[in-house]
Amino acid sequence: MLNSVKRREPSTAAAGLLSAAVVLVVGLTVVVSVYASMRANQRENADRVMDQRTAVAAAAVRTETERYRSLVETAAAGISTNTALTWDDFDTATAPLASANLIGAASLAFVVPVGTTGIAAAQTLWRGRGAEGLTLKPVVAAEEHYFTIFTRTLNATGPPMNGLDIAAAPEAATTLDDSRRVGQPSVSDTYVLLRDRNLPAAQQQRSFVFAAPIWTRANHPEFRGWIVLGLRGEDFLSGVLATVSQGQLDGELLATGRDGTRPVVAAYTVPGDADLTRSVDLVVADRGWTLITRADASHLPGASSRLPLTLLLTGSGMSVLLAGLIYVLATGRARAVARVHEATVELRQAEAESRHQAGLLSAIMSSISDAVGVVDDKGAFLLHNPAARELLGVDEDADDPDAWQQHYGLFRPDGRTPFPVEDMPLIRALRGESCDNVEMIVRNAQRPEGILVSVDGRPLDTSAGRHGAVAVFHDITEMRRYENDLAVFAGVVAHDLKAPLTVIRGHCEAASEDLDEAPADVRGSLDRIILAVDRMAALIDTLLAYTTARDAPLRTRRVDLGALVAEVVHDRTAHLRDDDRPQIDVASLPAVTADPAMLRHVLDNLLGNALKYVRPGTTPQVQVTAEAHGEHWARIEVADRGIGIPDTAKPEIFDSFHRAHAEAGYAGTGLGLAICKRIVERHGGEIGVADNPGGGTRFHFTLPLPVREGEFDMTGNNDEAVARAALERALAERAAMENSRLPGLSALPAAEPSAHDPAAARLRAPVPDHHPTTTSAE
Ligand code: ADP
Repeated sequence: MLNSVKRREPSTAAAGLLSAAVVLVVGLTVVVSVYASMRANQRENADRVMDQRTAVAAAAVRTETERYRSLVETAAAGISTNTALTWDDFDTATAPLASANLIGAASLAFVVPVGTTGIAAAQTLWRGRGAEGLTLKPVVAAEEHYFTIFTRTLNATGPPMNGLDIAAAPEAATTLDDSRRVGQPSVSDTYVLLRDRNLPAAQQQRSFVFAAPIWTRANHPEFRGWIVLGLRGEDFLSGVLATVSQGQLDGELLATGRDGTRPVVAAYTVPGDADLTRSVDLVVADRGWTLITRADASHLPGASSRLPLTLLLTGSGMSVLLAGLIYVLATGRARAVARVHEATVELRQAEAESRHQAGLLSAIMSSISDAVGVVDDKGAFLLHNPAARELLGVDEDADDPDAWQQHYGLFRPDGRTPFPVEDMPLIRALRGESCDNVEMIVRNAQRPEGILVSVDGRPLDTSAGRHGAVAVFHDITEMRRYENDLAVFAGVVAHDLKAPLTVIRGHCEAASEDLDEAPADVRGSLDRIILAVDRMAALIDTLLAYTTARDAPLRTRRVDLGALVAEVVHDRTAHLRDDDRPQIDVASLPAVTADPAMLRHVLDNLLGNALKYVRPGTTPQVQVTAEAHGEHWARIEVADRGIGIPDTAKPEIFDSFHRAHAEAGYAGTGLGLAICKRIVERHGGEIGVADNPGGGTRFHFTLPLPVREGEFDMTGNNDEAVARAALERALAERAAMENSRLPGLSALPAAEPSAHDPAAARLRAPVPDHHPTTTSAE
């Protein structure tokens, strides 16, 4: 299934890619065409605006020139009726022109033609008519001169320039001739006005004049002269175009020269690269002019928007995005399906794996002989393997812990006390506590005789953070029976072996006395037999002590530890010469609650080892100290400066028959510390070993302090009865557990009972017992 999905994936990806490509191409095509059409639209707009602006500019030029022409003509007409024109008449007739805002107009002049011979008479005549100080100065050698008589300055600076000979400017002279001949206003070719010729070259503009002839209105019209309007081309054109072009239009005004040339009258430029051009023909007075306009299309309104570019970029971006989206959508479903299938396969594998694990667990649980029970955090059973059902003899589980005691028939090892629910290993494990070797009797309808089980309990993290507990049960009935039988057997054997030894020793001593005269080697043999007998008796005592340490009933009482240590030290050292005496320091020691015989054995063993495990030729140094350990316990330490114990050997030296320095030639059985451990633990204490800083070994063990009315006291002044009662209360249960016969065990065949009861035998120290054990309690 997954493979088929994977096989389809490339084709789906290709289809997704194709769709995305199509969308991209279509999107880009649409965007580009919209962009192109917008650009075309903009270009059209620009053309239209250009046409409009050019039409407006042409109309403005046409209107202005026509106005100038008509103003000049009107002024000429006004003057033509006056036969004796004076300065005042001229001034009055041309006054309206002063306020007519004639753009670019430099001055307006009344000009008369004067023959070379009539110059003086004309000067006199016009001076008489108001042209004060008029001086006619002919500048060309022509028959006829055109002198300015009256001048009205318009946009020019400086004084009126009367008396100028206009014939000096051929363009103007020709115009005057033309207008006189046709009787109509005429406009000149461009030239630099005579009044401007004194200006710096940069300020000199191409200019032109409008000239209107003045003819009297009689039956026989008489020519009087001209009204001439001088115009500066640049000022005129820039004045006219400044408003209509709005800073977007270049302008160039071309006149048509009399010789057919197209001289430039004026030019007006604005910033930008002009790419649009228009040209309009105009009629100015009697001449044809052409106005050429140019503009940068991007500067024209409606053609300079950034919208198309923005649209192109945004549209392209959106097309790419859309194509990407379509690709993701087209391929996303296939990917999602593939992922679901992948997850499903993983899930199935995990499910198969967990089924396999569950099957394996179930097979293990069914096949192991140990009984296993698992409960959840409420104590309800999640699992009970067949061995557990077999062991407990109950088919149905009880899920309420309070019902367990009755349902399964659980008792303390004494067989009578119902097992308290709070001490049950599963309940302790639910509280987070691990416990091992908790013994209990199971006795119910299916197990009427009862079995002794040992239970280990552990907290368990069942699943998803939920807690639970697991317990493993072992049936130790047979083992305990066997151990008991072995103890009885050992006691019998030890006793029966010691009797002949005593006989052998007695006979040897008697023989030794009788053979007083015998050769030395015979008596030496007898002495060696006696020594061997003593060693064997000591070994038997050790073996007895080993079994007794576990099985003999504890006879606890208040024991003066100081006195007991002193006694052991005396036993160990009294027979030594002064030179051989070890250095033994005993601090002040408290009274404790213990079985004095067993405690004596512990002290003797530890002191014996401290004296034994020293380098040959060195004097043993031993320190015995004690301190309070918590409120109710004493911690006793026996420290030496001997050969020490390697770290690797420390964990095992309390095991039976384990010897750390066997090869070094120190005599021993490897049982002494095992016996000590048993005895200390039977008193509820603990024993351990550590290095003695500075060299040697430091053994420690703990023992309960005596009790007075429920209180422990390190001073040793407790009442014996109270101490005894408290300790016995504490240890009674343990002793009962260890010494009780299981219900029904008595029915089993046991070894032939001996008259000697090993459990009741007094423990004998492996040293000569010539000092009676004395304690403050005895
Ligand atoms: P053993 O009969 O060999 O002395 P123990 O059970 O008394 O048996 O001691 C076990 C071993 O622990 C000894 O064989 C010895 O190697 C080591 N041991 C015990 N006490 C001492 C000590 N005080 N210093 C060094 N080693 C010790």
